[in-house]
Amino acid sequence: MSTRILITGASRGIGRAIAVRLAKPDRHLLLHGRDRKELDQTAALAQKRGAHAEILLCDLAVPEQVQAMARTLAVSPLHALINNAGIAVVKPLAEQSLEEWQRTLAVNVTAPFLLTKLLAPVMPKGGSIVNILSIAAKVGFANWSSYSMSKAALDGFAKAVREELRPGGIRVINVYPGSTDTDIWKTVPGEWPRDRMLRPEAIADAVAMALEQPDDVVVEDISLGSVGGTL
Ligand code: NAP
Repeated sequence: MSTRILITGASRGIGRAIAVRLAKPDRHLLLHGRDRKELDQTAALAQKRGAHAEILLCDLAVPEQVQAMARTLAVSPLHALINNAGIAVVKPLAEQSLEEWQRTLAVNVTAPFLLTKLLAPVMPKGGSIVNILSIAAKVGFANWSSYSMSKAALDGFAKAVREELRPGGIRVINVYPGSTDTDIWKTVPGEWPRDRMLRPEAIADAVAMALEQPDDVVVEDISLGSVGGTL
C-alpha cells in the first residue's frame, strides 16, 4: 500500500516545495488548495518524480468544507498530515477588522484543529502531523498581531496534542520558519528583501528530514532562519 500524505496549501510557496520534496514513486500525495490551475502544476511536478497526485479543493475558512474533506479522506489510513496553508493579515491593530481576525483564526487554527481531530484516528503508528508555524509564534512583530495570535494558538494546541497522541505512536512535528521567499509577501504592505529570505525548499528539506526519522523518533521542533538574521 502506498504512503498517503495530505499537504494543505500545496498550490504554491512552501506547500508546493514540500509536495515536490516528498514526491516519490511509493507515495500518494493529496494536494489541497483552492487554485485548481496552480494545484495542477504542483501535481505535474510531483508526478514527474513518480508520485501519485490527487487534488482536493476546499476553502479552509469554511469549517463545513474542512470537515467534509476530512471525512472523505478518513476512509483509508493517512500517514502524514501537513498543516501548511496559512494567511497573514498584516496591518496596525486599529485597522484589523473582526472579519480579518476571524478569517485568520479559521484558516490558521480551526482548519488544522479539525483536520487533526478527524484524521489522527486513521493514522497508523509512526504517522506524523506536521504544523508549519512561524517564528511569529515565539517573537512579536509590530502589525502582525492576528498572525502571531494564530501561530501561537496552533503551537499551543499542537504541543498538547503531541502528548495526547504519543501512546498511539503518532508524531507531532512543529516547524518555525523565518521569512521565506513566497507569494505571501505580496499581501504584506512594504518593501521586503525577498532575495535575503529562506527558500521554500529549505523548509521542505527540514520537513522531509523529520519524516524520514525512524518511527519511534519525533523531531519535535524545527526553527529555521536566514543566516543573515531576521528581516
Ligand atoms: P503562500 O505562498 O501565500 O501560500 C499559501 C497557501 O495557503 C496557498 O497554497 C493557498 O492556497 C493556501 N490557502 C490560503 N488560504 C486558504 C484558504 N482559505 N483555503 C484553502 N487554502 C488556503 O504562503 P507560504 O509562504 O507558502 O505559507 C505557507 C505556510 O508557511 C503558512 O502557514 C505561513 O504562515 C507559513 N510561513 C510562511 C513564512 C514566509 O515568510 N513565507 C514564514 C513562516 C511561516 P490557494 O491559493 O490555492 O487557496
